[in-house]
Amino acid sequence: MNEPHSSLQPATLITHAGRPKGCKVTVNPVVARTSTVVFDSMATLRQAVAGRARHETGLVYGRKGSPTGESLEAVICALEGGHRSRLFSSGLAAITCAILSVVRSGDHVLVVDSCYEPVRKFCVQYLQQMGVECSFFQPDLSDLKAKIRPNTRLIWTESPGSILFEMCDLPALVALAKAHDNVVVAVDNTWGSGLMYCPLRLGADMSVIAATKYLVGHSDVMLGAVTTNQNRWTALADMGDLLGHCVSPDDAYLALRGVRTLSVRMRQQQDTALQVAHWLQKQALISTVFYPALPDDPGHAIWKRDFSGANGLLSCEFRTDVSAQAVDAFVETLQLFGIGHSWGGYESLALPVSPAAVRSLSHWQGRGNVVRLHVGLEDPADLIHDLQTALARLGEGLAG
Ligand SMILES: *Cc1c(COP(=O)(O)O)cnc(C)c1O
Repeated sequence: MNEPHSSLQPATLITHAGRPKGCKVTVNPVVARTSTVVFDSMATLRQAVAGRARHETGLVYGRKGSPTGESLEAVICALEGGHRSRLFSSGLAAITCAILSVVRSGDHVLVVDSCYEPVRKFCVQYLQQMGVECSFFQPDLSDLKAKIRPNTRLIWTESPGSILFEMCDLPALVALAKAHDNVVVAVDNTWGSGLMYCPLRLGADMSVIAATKYLVGHSDVMLGAVTTNQNRWTALADMGDLLGHCVSPDDAYLALRGVRTLSVRMRQQQDTALQVAHWLQKQALISTVFYPALPDDPGHAIWKRDFSGANGLLSCEFRTDVSAQAVDAFVETLQLFGIGHSWGGYESLALPVSPAAVRSLSHWQGRGNVVRLHVGLEDPADLIHDLQTALARLGEGLAG
């Protein structure tokens, strides 16, 4: 494929990468639905199979990838600045395959305490059982150096962290990791989605995006992607093949359609989220707003240095006299924020979350209840009015 040069800006890359090339072609790739691929001779079949074994692209069999999927992989790889990308049926499937492509029985894995909760579950419930030790480190890296062991094989981080958006100093983490032989650094890059953050350019070996969120952008597809540097590619691709991971070309097509508008959506959602965050900071019932783009957020300096923007995701902590029940009622009073999991779509969402339940190192004792908001593409004035109405109702409940 004749792909755009990697020195182009991200908005240009997502417009031009992964497009069909040639004379009289469609703007978008066709959706090539297939299991079987037929060949005109045994020689061409064997050639295709041998090419696929060397990790070349091209049709061999439905499970081994489709042209539609390859187009999407080209876009994601261009954004992430990696060697190659591979699609998975969900963000979590991408994460678990990335981890399994690195670790063997007897290895030790270090995982950031602020990781997406199912990652913690996979490490504790599955990796330990296959003989891989797993421990957690603070997102501020204060205990990381002391926790690296001779058998540490993988450091898994997520920046910013889930729920409270703790910023991780990735260049510092990479420096610590690379002082040891054989330590792979992998990053969950769903928050930045390749547009706002590029871990591979900061020295990470693997970057994972839950495309379900911003890349797809319309809350209608589950999808994940792992992008690696040259060193980690073969192991990742082989593990994906061994485990039989594949993605429907229809889902890949929907994600391709979504990713073309990633930059306008994310920048708009960031602008609105920043307005909502500033407004929430001034509300008496809210004690803390967690959003790295806020100048007084503890992670702001790292965010400013390493990220090119933010997104629509923020959390707010209520005053300690606001009960969990009152917080549930607040979320239910909101008219424009749906109640549900996930984020990254065009619509606003609100969900009570529990930091204490998903962290093992940091303590949330004596702190207030937290709601995570995802700010969609609605008008900021309408969203703020909706929040104002629900907060006023909450205040009346406290007074009465
Ligand atoms: C949602 C999410 C995932 C998992 O993605 P799915 O597609 O839901 O499996 C992984 N990491 C982060 C940070 C997420 O928010």
